[in-house]
Amino acid sequence: MTIIMLDIYKKLPKTNCGKCGVPTCMAFAVKVKNAQLRIWDCPYINKEDTESFSRKPAVTLEDNYERVSSELEVDAKHTNFKEAAMAIGGHFEANNGCEIIRLKMLNKPYEMRKEGLFDNGTYCRDSWSKIIMYDYIRRKGAKPLTGEWVTLGYFPNTASHVKAFQRSAEEKVATAFNGDIDKLKAHSKELGGIETSGKMKADFVCRFELLPRIPLYLCFWEADEEFQASCKLFMDSSAEAYIDIEYLAYLVERFVEKFTMEKTQNITDKV
Ligand code: SF4
Repeated sequence: MTIIMLDIYKKLPKTNCGKCGVPTCMAFAVKVKNAQLRIWDCPYINKEDTESFSRKPAVTLEDNYERVSSELEVDAKHTNFKEAAMAIGGHFEANNGCEIIRLKMLNKPYEMRKEGLFDNGTYCRDSWSKIIMYDYIRRKGAKPLTGEWVTLGYFPNTASHVKAFQRSAEEKVATAFNGDIDKLKAHSKELGGIETSGKMKADFVCRFELLPRIPLYLCFWEADEEFQASCKLFMDSSAEAYIDIEYLAYLVERFVEKFTMEKTQNITDKV
């Protein structure tokens, strides 16, 4: 039997004292259920309860991602593929009764079939790729780009993510390419980016396709005597019609991870 959130909550003193690092006992119970905290992180839990909970298997984050991706998969499979492909910029094919939508995420090709998401001919095992792709397909966004470039904080309920996003995404790119703008340009091109200009006065502006209808604009300013190099990542304000904003933030982080990791690998290869 797995742990359910109410079982955990019932064991807590419900004083919302915050000593466990989260503001309420309810929030603590959710984090224990998601395996982000352990029951004994609450100092008021008695020993017996600690022991009984440690004998039950916790629901891990990966279990939760898999559950969410399975739920979204049902919706995505029942979507009208032809309509969805048109709405989201995918390529629709129908051969011998088999319908497929072909589309790229972070420059990598995927196939959405009636059996689920396929990557390189085999069923995709990465829960996050499935969550993002299924959400994108089932929403059938169909909203034209507004041309309004916005940062993550523009979207509703993102205030708590903004700082983490700056650290994990924007500062990471600025640090990786500090003093190396030529490398940044070459690297952007290798990853399918197209240099652009207009909206933002920066030393380098490049457009990437996170998904066919979700562009990302990377703006980079070189260091000078006063300031360190900096980077800002913008999205079109239409993005929320296409994808849940939490998933979008995660997709951008993945992009940055791939972008900075491949840069490091290229440099290592040449040494
Ligand atoms: S330390 Fe325990 S009692 Fe205090 S808020 Fe956290 S879970 Fe609730």
